[in-house]
Amino acid sequence: MHAGMIHYKTIEEIELIRESSLLVAKTHAELAKHIRPGLDTLYLDRLAETFIRDHGASPAFKGYQGFPYSLCISPNEVVVHGFPSADPLKEGDILSIDCGVLLNGYYGDSAYTFAVGEISEAKKRLLQITHQCLMKGIDQLLAGNRLGDVSWAIQQHAEQAGYTVVRELVGHGVGRMLHEPPELPNYGKPGRGTPVQDGLVVAIEPMINMGRRFVVQGRDGWTIKTADRKPSAQYEHTVAVMDGKGEALSTFAYIEEALRNNKHNTVIIR
Ligand code: MG
Ligand code: MG
Repeated sequence: MHAGMIHYKTIEEIELIRESSLLVAKTHAELAKHIRPGLDTLYLDRLAETFIRDHGASPAFKGYQGFPYSLCISPNEVVVHGFPSADPLKEGDILSIDCGVLLNGYYGDSAYTFAVGEISEAKKRLLQITHQCLMKGIDQLLAGNRLGDVSWAIQQHAEQAGYTVVRELVGHGVGRMLHEPPELPNYGKPGRGTPVQDGLVVAIEPMINMGRRFVVQGRDGWTIKTADRKPSAQYEHTVAVMDGKGEALSTFAYIEEALRNNKHNTVIIR
């Protein structure tokens, strides 16, 4: 799926990917207004699809290789690619929501793990460390570095905290395609892999497990869970290399604003 040449983007293309990524960020913020115990996640999926279409875009995941929904909804031990469901959210759940849009011919892709009501201290720490992994990865996206430096920074931070990194799923180039070269694993060796240079646009998306790193696939052919059923978290930004360094094109700022105005939720990361 990721084989082939890397397409380095022009500034004009990066600005279009930024627009797509900001629409993803605003879609997440719409969801953040509503997340609370008792809500079902099919509701969130409909909300996201309507919001995306109202902004002249289409949900990137719906129909992608047959995926049936606009959002990937992955609670607790679900790592990624979970289906929205009619089951009500429960106090203490963590909920990873991955969203992508196609706008003006370019994709944006971002994921955020939410806390549903009050969550345990152990889950708070998992969210904080996973978010730090993403930011440390972005910090290594520097001209002169290689993608292995990004991968290593993520792995190092997760493992130092006593967590593990999912290896079966990886970050990726983003542009005219949702997934394009290069692949960007969340584990690796410094100094190896694709050189970082201006025009590279990648989705960095660490999936960090509280327990062991192993995952299993559900019978629906999509849902990926931790094998030990311990919680997993994910944060993802679409990031462009400009003037020699990585700049996130997606943002969590709108989500944080929405969470501060939602009495059922608290901002865990920051
Ligand atoms: Mg994503
Ligand atoms: Mg992605």
